[in-house]
Amino acid sequence: MTKPDVPSGLSAEEAARLLRQRVEMGGGDLFLDGMTREEALRRVSSARAGRSSDDLAPSAPRTPAPEPGARPTTGATAGRTSDGGTLILPDDYEGLREIALGCTRCGLSGGRTQVVFSDGPPSARLMVVGEAPGANEDASGVPFVGMAGQFLDLLLATVGLSRADSVYIANVLKCRPPGNRDPQPDEIAACSPFLLKQIDLVKPRALLAVGSFSARLLTGRDGVALGKLRGSVHTYHGVPLVVTYHPAALLRNRRWTRLFWDDLQLLRSVIDVV
Ligand code: SF4
Repeated sequence: MTKPDVPSGLSAEEAARLLRQRVEMGGGDLFLDGMTREEALRRVSSARAGRSSDDLAPSAPRTPAPEPGARPTTGATAGRTSDGGTLILPDDYEGLREIALGCTRCGLSGGRTQVVFSDGPPSARLMVVGEAPGANEDASGVPFVGMAGQFLDLLLATVGLSRADSVYIANVLKCRPPGNRDPQPDEIAACSPFLLKQIDLVKPRALLAVGSFSARLLTGRDGVALGKLRGSVHTYHGVPLVVTYHPAALLRNRRWTRLFWDDLQLLRSVIDVV
């Protein structure tokens, strides 16, 4: 029986440190070759810093607490709607969130349990942009709370980033597509003004797009394969943007974990100089 590389009882920070050491020593598949993904994630989940298991259970929506005075209300701006009309979005964070929480602009509103707006502080240095809520997110109202989200948290911790204080997370779509199918173009057109306004208000120092839908939206490279977008630094309205795989894809294909790690190192180097 293979001996696990990550002993039980580690905190998330300790697990992250071990992970860094393994990579620096040339480990190709990180810790996953020493245990199953499920075992690693169970350990990380039980040891996550700053968030208890109760916080991950389906419950009332968690809402980020904007820092007092950090997002001044300055009026309203307009974006384009999917039907070519004008969508008026406010320039204050709470106003934007309130509009999103009551949104019925596309057909996904009929099947959702709740709108999944964001997680993490709006004062965060890094904004992670994913695809759409899954079942766990739809139930909890918080993005990236399933296994993929826990894996993402662990990998971000390896470069010293946490949604407790430095990472804000949002998706291209705020409502769950049925059966976790891909977002449709009309849904992206209807919902993306919320995301783009979030970026405008959060003003992150760097963006990390995980998965092809957010990568294509933020780079403007529609139809380009994700593998061709990763590995270099793009910009979105002047904000450095790194592209990588969706953490759910890493759970299906362990070879991509190393590539994700490389992208995180690129991201960290960007954050360190902006
Ligand atoms: S997915 Fe976006 S546009 Fe569609 S109903 Fe939800 S919040 Fe509104």
